[in-house]
Amino acid sequence: MSHIGNIVKLIFHYLVQTGNFCDDACSATRVALPAMELFELREFDAHELVVFGHDAASGLRAVIAVHSTALGPAAGGCRMWPYPGTAEAVADVLRLSRGMSYKNAMAGLAFGGGKAVIIGDSSRAKTPQLFEAFGRFVDSLGGRYITAEDVGTTVADMASVARATRYVSGLGAAPGEAGGDPGPKTALGVHLGIKAAVRFGLGRSELAGVTVAVQGAGGVGYHLCGMLAREGARLTVADVRPAALERVCDEFGARAVSPEEVLAQPVDVLSPCALGAVLNPTSIPRLRARIVAGAANNQLAQGQDGSALKAAGILYAPDYVINAGGIISVAHEYRGGGSEAAVVADIQRIPARLTEIFERARRENRTTNAVADQMACERLGRHSPPRAA
Ligand code: NAD
Repeated sequence: MSHIGNIVKLIFHYLVQTGNFCDDACSATRVALPAMELFELREFDAHELVVFGHDAASGLRAVIAVHSTALGPAAGGCRMWPYPGTAEAVADVLRLSRGMSYKNAMAGLAFGGGKAVIIGDSSRAKTPQLFEAFGRFVDSLGGRYITAEDVGTTVADMASVARATRYVSGLGAAPGEAGGDPGPKTALGVHLGIKAAVRFGLGRSELAGVTVAVQGAGGVGYHLCGMLAREGARLTVADVRPAALERVCDEFGARAVSPEEVLAQPVDVLSPCALGAVLNPTSIPRLRARIVAGAANNQLAQGQDGSALKAAGILYAPDYVINAGGIISVAHEYRGGGSEAAVVADIQRIPARLTEIFERARRENRTTNAVADQMACERLGRHSPPRAA
């Protein structure tokens, strides 16, 4: 264990506690080591580094996972979420971090994959001190991990992080410059990706009249709904926040449905833009969409859920390929000096990448997620795709 400022880092090389963190100066070897063996977790997938950070003064409890730095420093956002326990936080950060390696590789970025999670309720537990402490935690890794916003964190939070480290992106950007809130850029990539999927799967070159069900009208979903509506798509939307739902209904003429109903809508496209693992053995038999194409990370609960989608004749746009717009923006901003036009030009490459995956999957009679995983692993220099189905 090492002390960096008032951050306590616990680096568990072999085992991780499933209960609460040790808040005092206990050493990793003194921690009771029960059930969860980090190296044995399915999500572990040869991560380079998993680090636990705690700061008593601000209440920070965070985990940073660095999956791969083969292509460059690990870049990925920081999620703040009220995880029920440490085990859930660890599983999530590992899944997300691995996804970032694949996403950055497929987007052609010179960045590896990493992610951070802060355990806490973003609606109640946020303070500038908490994010400054998180910034010191990030800084302690010396640039091996670069953070940005994700679910539960904002541009303002990253401004607090930036007071403690330069290894942060997703800060404000002047008009015309690369950077700022990645949500609208992610939405642009998903919008273009939906058009590519509609072209490939439905043989339609326009979105006019195409029906789309959007799950989640937040930072990405709201902008996506606007882009789809402007091209004449007919929207059905669900959100657990009534105000978010009302806004897209008022502004874009969307039809509201309940969160329970949205996945089973009889639409051309289902666009998950809220949660991970929404495509699973319970939900897939209920789907009535012909295409699934959305922003949410880790939409497939397991790799084999991609096979169930394929068997049901549903075209799936691999999440980490279609939702790369935000990290493309973050990457340009971090490198500095880029323009928004250059970010948009990079995002406009997403549809061709997706079409290549769709075509290869059809030609080889494989799932789109297996094809994408294989392509990502080839770029990362890793051999067997761990999630192939
Ligand atoms: P967000 O938190 O701003 O929005 C998510 C929305 O989903 C919220 O409005 C929330 O109320 C709603 N929601 C939560 N549970 C729901 C449910 N059961 N049914 C319907 N709605 C529900 O997050 P975001 O930035 O819009 O990101 C959305 C998804 O896209 C996340 O999975 C995120 O990891 C992923 N993603 C985001 C970005 C980005 O740039 N923001 C980039 C890549 C991937």
